Amino acid sequence: HALLEIKDLTVSVEDKIILNGINLTIGSGELHVLMGPNGTGKSTLVSAIMGDPRYQIESGQILLDGKDITEMKADERARAGVFLSFQAPEEIPGVTLEDFLRTAKGSLEKRPPKILQFKKELKEQMKALDMDPSYAERYLNVGFSGGEKKKTEILQLLMLQPKLALLDETDSGLDVDAVRTVTKGIRAFKNRKNGLFIITHNASILEGLDVDVVHVLEGGKIAYTGGRELISKITQQGFGVLGKEAGFYE
Ligand code: ADP
Ligand code: MG
Ligand code: MG
Repeated sequence: HALLEIKDLTVSVEDKIILNGINLTIGSGELHVLMGPNGTGKSTLVSAIMGDPRYQIESGQILLDGKDITEMKADERARAGVFLSFQAPEEIPGVTLEDFLRTAKGSLEKRPPKILQFKKELKEQMKALDMDPSYAERYLNVGFSGGEKKKTEILQLLMLQPKLALLDETDSGLDVDAVRTVTKGIRAFKNRKNGLFIITHNASILEGLDVDVVHVLEGGKIAYTGGRELISKITQQGFGVLGKEAGFYE
């Protein structure tokens, strides 16, 4: 069975149907990209997969590794291996980055991580991301630059090792170094058993990655799906032209 299987999923937000009959499958070891105009429901889709209670699943199913997670709460889904990074990471004064990661790992694994091993791993992963070790002692995201927040997010991926990583990317504010970090981190994370589902408008993030499938969301549905060639087409021509070509607009 696939890593993620979405079957005929309909999702509403505040009683308004946003997604209407989504079908999508991500295999183990695959990286899928989700594109689409602003406000079409990309964030809604990944939030619904994560189990954010603001997004009501009206019908359909979400399977992770063959297991039905549709009725699970967000924390259960996290323990089952789903991870969602947010467009705007929260600043948490009073909680250091290290505390945060240790608590998150402990709650996922239902027992606190062994401290020395945890510290060693944290140090190694931070080094791999060119993060100054002093960041471990700083309050989470407080006063972090956009690039540093980005690194923190990728660090979470590497430390928590979810099965399915949902990355909801901001379309701006990433400098060349941050883009390189994201690419490097994602490559370090990716293996044959896990999967990635990335929302991004930033084609440069995708340049250094092996993209398996691109989905375009329009009108509450997956309007079309293709290979990585869709990325440059969309970047150059926009969604409208491509939609016409695909016969999506009459
Ligand atoms: P995208 O990520 O593709 O830009 P969103 O999923 O954020 O789109 O939004 C899709 C639609 O759902 C929009 O009309 C948006 O206003 C609405 N929406 C999304 N999240 C919420 C929310 N938490 N509360 C109210 N409306 C929302
Ligand atoms: Mg948006
Ligand atoms: Mg969004």
